[in-house]
Amino acid sequence: MKVLIVGLDGLDYNIVDSNEYQNLKQEEYGKIRLDGIHTVTTPVIWASFITGKMPKEHGILSGRCWNSTLLEPLKRIIFRLSHGKGWCLIRFIEHWIIPQHIQRMYTIKDHCVPTIFDEDRSVAISIPSYNYWRWPREMSLRGSIGNEAKSKQVSEFIFKEFQKKREFLFKRLKDDWQVVMIHFHILDIYSHLYFNYPQKILQIYTILDDLIKMVKVELEKLVKDEIIVFIISDHGTVSGIHTSYGFFSVNVSLGIRDPHITDFYPLIIKAINTHNIQSLKDKTIKQPPGKKVFLREKDREHKKIDAEEIKERLKELGYL
Ligand SMILES: [Zn+2]
Repeated sequence: MKVLIVGLDGLDYNIVDSNEYQNLKQEEYGKIRLDGIHTVTTPVIWASFITGKMPKEHGILSGRCWNSTLLEPLKRIIFRLSHGKGWCLIRFIEHWIIPQHIQRMYTIKDHCVPTIFDEDRSVAISIPSYNYWRWPREMSLRGSIGNEAKSKQVSEFIFKEFQKKREFLFKRLKDDWQVVMIHFHILDIYSHLYFNYPQKILQIYTILDDLIKMVKVELEKLVKDEIIVFIISDHGTVSGIHTSYGFFSVNVSLGIRDPHITDFYPLIIKAINTHNIQSLKDKTIKQPPGKKVFLREKDREHKKIDAEEIKERLKELGYL
């Protein structure tokens, strides 16, 4: 069976659920739990999605890799010896001690365990922690938060990137493939830039809803096999700040209930290696009754928010 995964960074469950985004909702949809993950940081969560492992196992621990044969292992040692409690120290070192030029994005070679892309005929398009395209100066949020002109520049750039990626996806879908995953960053970036302009953010939700519609039309034309389409987000974004749950939807009813971000890896591997949807239904994720399903922060309402507060939170997440 073929599997297509569309990663929509920052897509928020509550916003999708309370609006008419029929294409984003698909047949089955819900929140993804992130409990046990020490930070709501994009590369860390996507690494857990593509490996099915927690950060201490896959090794992607923060927003940026410390590009030194000594420093990155040191980060892992601090994390392990402190059982994750050294995260505050790691964050401090990353922001205040290690210069930017000794930091880089995580890539394929930083993963300590296999990923879904180790399967035959797999295609990974711009996946954070694995092969993210690029993060050029034009995309930097530094100096953009609360600055209208710079926000406009960044959002125009990210929109062009979105269009390029979309085009690239449609080209790759024409090839022979078993699993394709693509990541779009546009919604997350818009949500950080336009935290006080919900209408601008909702426009991007509409564009992404249309994207899924277009993808489905292409798949109808191109793919004769059965196909599973997952839409996944690593976290939501409300009032410019990441929430502690992600989003999933799937085009067939699999009976997925309250999945954790690490639950999708075995499901995807099983789907790739079977022709039988029924056998997947037996494998789907159901939480045992009584287990607390979310590390619940209260679902946040959108509220007017101060640019300085956003900047502080974005520093913690490795954006600034
Ligand atoms: Zn993210």
